[in-house]
Formats: sequence, C-alpha cells, structure tokens
Amino acid sequence: MWRKNSHNVRIYFYLAALGAGIILLSILIFSKPMPVYEEKIIPVFGTYVRLNVAGDKVSPDVLIKMAERELYQIHNKYSANVENSIVWELNKNGKVKVDDEALFLFQSAINYAIITGGAFDPTIRPLLELWGFDDANSSEKRVPSQEEINNVLSYVDYRFINIDEKNMEVSFLKEGVQVDLGGIAKGYAIDLVIQRIRAIDPKATGFIDAGGDIGIIGPKFGELAWVIGIRDPFSNDTFKSMDTIYLTDGTVATSGDYERFFVQNGTKYHHIIDPQTGYPAQGISSVTVIAPNATAADTFATALFVLGFDNPALEYFTNFGIQAMIVSNNGEIRETSGFNYFREKLK
Ligand code: ADP
Ligand code: MG
Repeated sequence: MWRKNSHNVRIYFYLAALGAGIILLSILIFSKPMPVYEEKIIPVFGTYVRLNVAGDKVSPDVLIKMAERELYQIHNKYSANVENSIVWELNKNGKVKVDDEALFLFQSAINYAIITGGAFDPTIRPLLELWGFDDANSSEKRVPSQEEINNVLSYVDYRFINIDEKNMEVSFLKEGVQVDLGGIAKGYAIDLVIQRIRAIDPKATGFIDAGGDIGIIGPKFGELAWVIGIRDPFSNDTFKSMDTIYLTDGTVATSGDYERFFVQNGTKYHHIIDPQTGYPAQGISSVTVIAPNATAADTFATALFVLGFDNPALEYFTNFGIQAMIVSNNGEIRETSGFNYFREKLK
C-alpha cells in the first residue's frame, strides 16, 4: 500500500512542477516589460515644453529627438518675432507664399475666429505690440492711451486676412494689419508632435505639456489615465491645483491671467486681449478647455477667456467637441455639462 501512495505523490509532484513551468513560461511569453518613461524639458514657444514618453517599438530617445526638432521647426516657421518666418514675412510685406501646412493653419485660425464671433482673432498683433505682450525684445509693457487703442483697433479684424488657395498665398486686405499665431501655434505643435510619434510608434504612450496645454500621447502604462492638476489661478504657487481631471487621450488647455501680466497702479493687465475693446479681457481668472485636439483646446481657452464669465453661449460650444470650466476673478466657477465626467478616476 505504501508503495502505491508514494507513486501517487510522485505523479502529483511532477504535475505540479509541469503546471508551474507552464505558468512561468506563459508569464515570460505573454507579459511585456513595463514601459520606461523618459522625460525632457524643451525651452520653446516662450515656455518650457515637457515631454514624457515611453516607446513601444522605438526608444524614447528617438521620439524625444524627433519631437524636439518638430517643436523648434513649428516655432521658427510661425513666430512673428523670428526673422524670415512666414508670419514675419506676411507682417512685413502684407503677403506671403504658403505651403499646405501654413495654409491649413491660417484657415484654422480664421475658422476659430468665425466660430467664436471674433473673440479669438489672429490679427490681434497690433494690440499685443501696444500693450507690450508681443514678445519682441524691444517691447515694453505699459497701459496705452485710449486714443492709441482706438487707432490700432481699426486694424484688428480677421476678415482683413485673405486666403488665396489657388495661388497658395495669404495676404492682407488693409495696410497695417498684423497677425500673431501665438494663440494657436502651441496647440497645433502639440497635435503635430503626437501625430508624428504615433506614425513612428503607434503604441507609444505619455504626454506633452507645453506650459498649460497638455496632449496625451497614450495612457500611462498603456491603460491608466494621466492625472492632471488644474492650477489654482489665485495662488502664486505654480504647483497648487484647484481641481483634478483624468485623461487617457485627448487634450486640455488652461489660459490664465497669471501667465503673463504686469501691474500698474494696483491693476493687473494680462496678455489675453479682447479684440472688441482693445483691453485685456475682464472678469475671468482662468479657463480650462478639454478637447479632442490641442489646437481646439488652445484657441477655445483664449476665446472663452475673452467671452467672459457670463457668456450665454458657454454650453453652445460643446457642439464643437469641447468641455470647459471657467473661474471668475472672485473665484466663482461655471462649467459645461460634460466637464464633470473628466473628474472621475475610474472610467
Ligand atoms: P499662452 O500662450 O500663455 O498659453 P494663451 O493660450 O491664452 O496663452 O494665448 C494667449 C496668446 O494668444 C497671447 O500671448 C497672444 O499671442 C495671443 N492672443 C491674445 N489675445 C488673443 C485673442 N483675442 N485672439 C487670438 N490670440 C490672442
Ligand atoms: Mg493657450
């Protein structure tokens, strides 16, 4: 009897060993190593762009180098302050030949101007110069006189931009018009970088954060949402957040009156200008927009800032695929109906 028993024990032992072996083998075959995230801070667009990426097929170094190149390329191509950029040439000569991409970017800018009733307006440049928010080395921040503002206002209207698709040319219909794509170029650059990364490595994951405009490359470790803090506009602490959202894809942009401003006689003057009045937009401290692409998030954040806290059309803009939260100067909060969805961690 005891012999038979020991035989059984032996069989069980072999079976168990075999099972463990199979489990171990399948772990080795089917489980992938955790993605390794690499981060780089790139100074461009007058801010710091933070790129955090893990490749699936390609090393993160390769993806970072490519992204860096694209970011500088977009900046140098569209910055009004870079000599010989498309925008610099347009502002200087009143017309410029464009490629497909530039044509698309100008058309996008004009579309957002139309959609937002001119709250977003790429011809804002003369006002930015007047207030000293044009980022030119020579510019001085100051409160202009009403007369100066009135003079300059007559050049601010996106309808002065003419797009000739046939001849691939952008021109001004009025002398003295000046454009600035600062309200859209950063968003566009994020979209482009994400598109390029996905083209090389479709399962790459991570995010790109361009000073408050964030685009998701892919969920953390391929499955988790990225946790994004929304900055408290009333705190001097850049890291203090007032709210948290969770994104596995898409983009989010925040425009705040704390980003670029100066104080004169106790009044704060910031860099988002109302094209109608010629003054920094009143009533709002920050706007956060969640959108499928960063170009939309970036432009809508600026436009909703201009449209003010009581904007009756706030919910209407969800028709363009965005959700928004706005914070008034005295801390009141308004948001679109779908914004709260992004506060839920488990999706
Ligand atoms: P940031 O560039 O600091 O992220 P925003 O995304 O809010 O800030 O965009 C503000 C920038 O857009 C300004 O620096 C300026 O170049 C430009 N701008 C300011 N007011 C307007 C406006 N009403 N329409 C279009 N662009 C604007
Ligand atoms: Mg922006």
